Amino acid sequence: MIFPFLKKSNAYVVFTLEYLLGLSTYGDYHGFDIYKYKRIRDELIREKKLKRRYLCDPHPCSYEDILLVHTEDYVRRIKDPVYVNQMLKIQMNSMWDSSVLEYFKAVTGGTMFATALALKNRTTAFNLGGGFHHAHRDRGEGFCLINDLAIAIEKFRKKGKYKKALIIDLDYHQGNGNASVYRDDADVFTLSIHAEQWEGIEGLAMKDVLVASDIDDEAYLEVVRENLLWLEDRFSAEIVYYIAGSDPYEKDELADMQISREALLRRNMMVYAFAQKMKLPLVVVPGGGYGKDSWHIYADFISQVLS
Ligand SMILES: [Zn+2]
Repeated sequence: MIFPFLKKSNAYVVFTLEYLLGLSTYGDYHGFDIYKYKRIRDELIREKKLKRRYLCDPHPCSYEDILLVHTEDYVRRIKDPVYVNQMLKIQMNSMWDSSVLEYFKAVTGGTMFATALALKNRTTAFNLGGGFHHAHRDRGEGFCLINDLAIAIEKFRKKGKYKKALIIDLDYHQGNGNASVYRDDADVFTLSIHAEQWEGIEGLAMKDVLVASDIDDEAYLEVVRENLLWLEDRFSAEIVYYIAGSDPYEKDELADMQISREALLRRNMMVYAFAQKMKLPLVVVPGGGYGKDSWHIYADFISQVLS
């Protein structure tokens, strides 16, 4: 696959070992391979694709940051580990259970840091975690406790770094949390192309596209291509956030789509090319992806961009 108009990239990758916090006691929680992002980091270093200089270590976000998006009542509740574990439906079984919130704060800090890097260097920054797109302002859902993307967007809008952001969400599941957070905000457009719809939401700047779960590679890529083209004329963003969900993968152990590894790389590079064409900073988060083979999808994407 050749992408002739793309220039050599100095993309950044954001990761810290705190991303393993809070999940490590649950083993394969919902089939989620907790080591996948560390595996990706290690693989990129081993392949000599990722230089130390472009691998960045973020700080966790603060409660003040979380309050930029979530309600005071909700933030008060998530400080209680019992509430958090009940909400995420995890058994409390060790002294480490209280660190689940720390995991979400670390990853959200990573999405904020990736935003800072992408804006400052006018480039692409990958966070090796995040895309908690089911979290609403006043509640979490689907293993999304807080909404990392919305928190990052609000943090940098408050700093006056930009006004208009675009969220492209190609996870298997609908980005219902993002759509609900930005329902009344015409300056944040959310495009979600998914095979599983969670709820019907009407917003000022959003588009939900439901595809059949048995759609083939070429038809799926055509839907993505059409919608990226559609966006070019509809919304002038200053930054693009991309939830590069790996769960449409044919080997995913939770979802039921049949998209090949090659097609998912093409899909991811289409979004990358879109941001390049529009000359916009791009922040990428992995979203969902389950099972032992899932990590290859995000690793392929980063590796291709760094090549
Ligand atoms: Zn998903």
